[in-house]
Amino acid sequence: MTIAMARSAAAKFASIEELLLILADYIDDRGTLWSLCLSSWRFNCVFTSKLAELVVVRIEKDDDEETVQHLIDGLLAGPYLSDLRHLQLIVNNGPTFPEETLERIRKLLEYTPNLKIFTWESADGDIPVSTLVQLSQYCQPLEELHLISGPELNNYGTGFRDVLEKPTFKNVRVLECRSLGTWHALYIMNQCRNLERVKMTHMGYMLALGWVHSGYHAHLRAWISREEASRSSSKKPLKIDMCYSRSMKANYDCEVCDNPSMTSYNKPNNERYQQVWPWASGRAWQFHNGQVRHITYEYPHPEPVEILATPSNEQVF
Ligand SMILES: [Zn+2]
Repeated sequence: MTIAMARSAAAKFASIEELLLILADYIDDRGTLWSLCLSSWRFNCVFTSKLAELVVVRIEKDDDEETVQHLIDGLLAGPYLSDLRHLQLIVNNGPTFPEETLERIRKLLEYTPNLKIFTWESADGDIPVSTLVQLSQYCQPLEELHLISGPELNNYGTGFRDVLEKPTFKNVRVLECRSLGTWHALYIMNQCRNLERVKMTHMGYMLALGWVHSGYHAHLRAWISREEASRSSSKKPLKIDMCYSRSMKANYDCEVCDNPSMTSYNKPNNERYQQVWPWASGRAWQFHNGQVRHITYEYPHPEPVEILATPSNEQVF
């Protein structure tokens, strides 16, 4: 092929928008995407939408409000916010997040009505309930909710029990909670009406103290019963992984969490697996690893229901 022919082929490729969109799916490097956007008006039109798929907003502990304002106003001024698919907020100016910051986040959510994925990460604490309520109101197509708090921080939160306004997520299919206050996590799960996949890891040790806090168990059991009843005809699948430590000093080294292939539980004969939740029609396996317990629940039951021996209280969880 001559140089002229190669140039012509490259020009032809670059002129076909569908081919460029396919190419965009294979570019994970945001720097390259920026360069492409700046190279021509045509490339700008094609690649900017890809660039707008994920926006990360990072607020650090010593950022003043002027910095936060500059950051969020810059995003609000951009033309592609309404196309944004995934907003990731990393907010480390807590534990009492400034009202001004929360108001700017509210404004940002107001301008991202087509968000599909929302991630909150904070070393300082759980997402404020007011922000969750705004998220549920402004971003109704939301399908994935990822909430990650710092380790050992807020495992004693009160959740939504004392809150008048509660968020309702009608379309959220995937819920991930990591290091969230246990009540907070359970109540958020309760507000998601279309779940298929739940991951709750690094939960507070209080979950294990059933004889003191039976409320957790009753709440979880009632929730599972409600979900199973509503899915009994559709058999719409639900899979939950929950992981908690039974020790006061949280030790979260969990073999199952560290090894995603284990969540399929291909080795139920392993003595560290036990079948739990005999009241559920889905199947729940618990994995023991020292003080850490990891439960994987699957609905519908992937195998014919077996007749189970009555487990001890500890096994029931
Ligand atoms: Zn785990």
